[in-house]
Amino acid sequence: MTVRASFDWAHVAATDQSFENALAKARAGDRLDVDDATELLATGTDREGLDPARVERVLEAADARRREVVGDEVTFVANVNNNVTTACNTGCLFCNFKDAAATFEGEDPDVGYTRTPAESRSVVRDAVARGVYEVCSVSGLHPALVLDEDHHEALAGREGVNYRPPEAYGTDPGTYLDQLRAMAVDGVHVHSMTPEEAAHARRGVDRSYRETYERLRGAGLDSAPGTAAEILVDEVREEICPGKIDSGEWVAAMEGAAAAGLDLTATIMYGHVENVRHRALHLDVVRDLQDRTGAIREFVPLSFVHPNTPLYERGLVDGGASDAEDALMIAVSRLFLDNVDHLQSSWVKFGDEKALKLLSCGADDLMGTILSEEITTRAGGTHGEFRSFEDYARMIRAVGREPVERSTDYRTRRTLPEEGPYGPRLGPRADGTPILSDGPRQPADD
Ligand code: SF4
Repeated sequence: MTVRASFDWAHVAATDQSFENALAKARAGDRLDVDDATELLATGTDREGLDPARVERVLEAADARRREVVGDEVTFVANVNNNVTTACNTGCLFCNFKDAAATFEGEDPDVGYTRTPAESRSVVRDAVARGVYEVCSVSGLHPALVLDEDHHEALAGREGVNYRPPEAYGTDPGTYLDQLRAMAVDGVHVHSMTPEEAAHARRGVDRSYRETYERLRGAGLDSAPGTAAEILVDEVREEICPGKIDSGEWVAAMEGAAAAGLDLTATIMYGHVENVRHRALHLDVVRDLQDRTGAIREFVPLSFVHPNTPLYERGLVDGGASDAEDALMIAVSRLFLDNVDHLQSSWVKFGDEKALKLLSCGADDLMGTILSEEITTRAGGTHGEFRSFEDYARMIRAVGREPVERSTDYRTRRTLPEEGPYGPRLGPRADGTPILSDGPRQPADD
């Protein structure tokens, strides 16, 4: 028995549906239900393990659907990551990003970091000058981060609200509104404030999610990432992230963001303790949310990366998803989410080779350049966690698809020309110069 099979779940992978019926519905374009998705993800719950021939049939159906819905374009965006702080006390067992907030008290620690609003602005300004037009910012839940100055006053001296005043820390992160105002410069699109961060921005006060997101939008927020979703089934959340908001709260936050006029994304983080039924239930929550809001621009399956996580170190998992499970997750997302057009294959999670393979399993987006501050300052050096437009053009054409630069919201796109050099053109300062070019900005001939 695998570790993953040893949990005593209320939701189990068993249905009255058959794999063949579920696949027939998928091929006909009928709306799938949770039983159908469970059968497809399991390639039949009537047998142990995945059936390789059935896997291929599901992938083919998803690839055909992708072609019908979005054609052969593969999109990507010119973006920079600016995560404000790694300080976080939430203790999610799958996370290796955070550092206990107590280590940030007094002097700055050797591990982790917190950026001031001025430092955030500098990161974004530098990236925008290189042609980037999206900043993606997802941060730890620093105890001193609050919505605004009034929020500081409301929380001061209170117990049990995960709050400490900025004076307790080596670096003051400012407020969420300060950080957004700092990042919203030079026409860049600010993609930030997950449901978990929005919950942190309203903790201990009587303010709705809608009002919270309206305030954030007023400070420069353009769209909200639907990360922190993990698996939207509470029995799984209790095992992997008991300190996080529950699934109902996650949905309420996303609805509040949509009501505030923001575009959204949605994610699933799978391949840890959950079973295929949980994955299917998660897809159902996302599709219902999209039926109600129409605000989700893309869905992003994130395969759990197990090394250096408490889940792995404590023996609660013995690895992540297999290649076949990754492919099925993409494929069934494409077939089940009939109301979300775009499906992302994340090269950060899957690596280049598998990320490209997943483009033939239902995916049509390959994320973004993910320029980071370290990369910016070492421009021209090792690329690390960065993909250039040149990389994108080469990789996407190698699999016979069409490389297309997109805006964050997918509403603006541009097909890359046959010949390079390649650089972004959709942003306010994007003139076609390759992002890491060191010389004077010289528009590329595309
Ligand atoms: S909330 Fe959870 S996932 Fe996010 S930084 Fe904190 S511990 Fe990590």
